[in-house]
Amino acid sequence: MLTDIRISVRDGVRKLCARYPDTYWRDLDAQSAYPQAFVEALTEAGYLAALIPTEFGGLGLGVGDASVVLEEVSRSGGNPAAVHAQMYTMGTLLRHGSLEQKSEYLPRIARGELRLQAFAVTEPTAGSDTTSIRTTATKRGSTYVINGQKVFISRVKQSDLMILLARTTPQSEVKRRSEGLSAFLIDLRRTDGALAVKPMRMMMNHHTNELFFDDLVIPESALIGEEGRGFQYILDGMNAERILIAAECIGDSRYFLDKATAYAKTRSVFGRPIGQNQGIQFPIARAYANTESADLMRWRAADLFDAGAPCGPEANMAKLLAADASWESANTAMQTFGGFAFTADYDIERKFRETRLYQVAPISTNLILAYLGEHVLGLPRSY
Ligand SMILES: Cc1cc2nc3c(=O)[nH]c(=O)nc-3n(C[C@H](O)[C@H](O)[C@H](O)COP(=O)(O)OP(=O)(O)OC[C@H]3O[C@@H](n4cnc5c(N)ncnc54)[C@H](O)[C@@H]3O)c2cc1C
Repeated sequence: MLTDIRISVRDGVRKLCARYPDTYWRDLDAQSAYPQAFVEALTEAGYLAALIPTEFGGLGLGVGDASVVLEEVSRSGGNPAAVHAQMYTMGTLLRHGSLEQKSEYLPRIARGELRLQAFAVTEPTAGSDTTSIRTTATKRGSTYVINGQKVFISRVKQSDLMILLARTTPQSEVKRRSEGLSAFLIDLRRTDGALAVKPMRMMMNHHTNELFFDDLVIPESALIGEEGRGFQYILDGMNAERILIAAECIGDSRYFLDKATAYAKTRSVFGRPIGQNQGIQFPIARAYANTESADLMRWRAADLFDAGAPCGPEANMAKLLAADASWESANTAMQTFGGFAFTADYDIERKFRETRLYQVAPISTNLILAYLGEHVLGLPRSY
């Protein structure tokens, strides 16, 4: 629910976003350009350090409070994908990083001198089956040597730091497939030609890449937490990620509903506003109801998370329901705007492309349903 802090974050971010209207995002979309000025402004205002504890120079807020930042970016017509990883990767460093790592990086991230916007897990052959990743980190003296390939790794060229998941013990030598994977904090400024970054052209303005590691040598101090426990650390961060992404979807959904409602009131065809026709009005009303109900689950998950209580089912349901609501609102807005929905000038098609992603990434709808079916309802495992 909306507390005083959340209202103040909402109002602050809303004011900042008003300086970056639809035209700003539309132009970036046309040029496939990163929203550099916007990211700098959000960082300068402190919002991207929302989850960094105050002793390291951040705002020390909870995940629920931080989710408001991303919701407002979506709701303003912007794309929070440009900045969200700094929030959802933060937990891995905060919970499992050493004091040295936190002291070295967190204050500089909070001041905006460094960006932690890249998170490298997905691989072309493993896909959703993360424990089958093949990228290896081999211990050599006081270093690790990284070899392998990643795909769909976003914002690598816009980030200074990247969290990497790699296998440190072969799958054949561990009891459980989830063991033997380790998390590393990679300094992208020191990759000395051993990391090739190949941009991928995507259907929306999303700075995503293929990565090729060829004997990248990193210091052993880059290891986060204990060797072999990386998968667990990444899983630990998943609930926060689900809640933050749910908030982005709620923001998108409200953007579409605001636009569709306004257009349905003013666009007049056959001598009356199109919103007077129930064929137009009811889908908007239904999408609104689904958005509000998804938002309740988002707040329930966020409040449990911030109270330190288990929230796996709620966080997953929040992401599922919010992604479905934003997709429903996107389709409804497309229908409401008719032909104009397809023109870049109305921004509906741009946001439609952006919000479609949440059915697939960072976690696909099917895998959330599998989690609910198998882990919450106790149905037989499919994988
Ligand atoms: C724009 C974009 C940005 C991304 N950014 C990042 C990033 O920064 N870092 C990163 O690590 N990854 C990133 N990803 C990757 C993203 O997390 C994956 O695309 C996603 O997890 C799905 O994996 P996949 O694409 O390999 O699909 P696959 O695993 O090949 O799955 C394909 C389809 O099959 C379904 N499926 C697979 N197995 C099952 C099953 N057992 N039961 C039912 N259905 C199943 C899936 O749900 C999906 O719909 C990004 C992806 C995109 C598109």
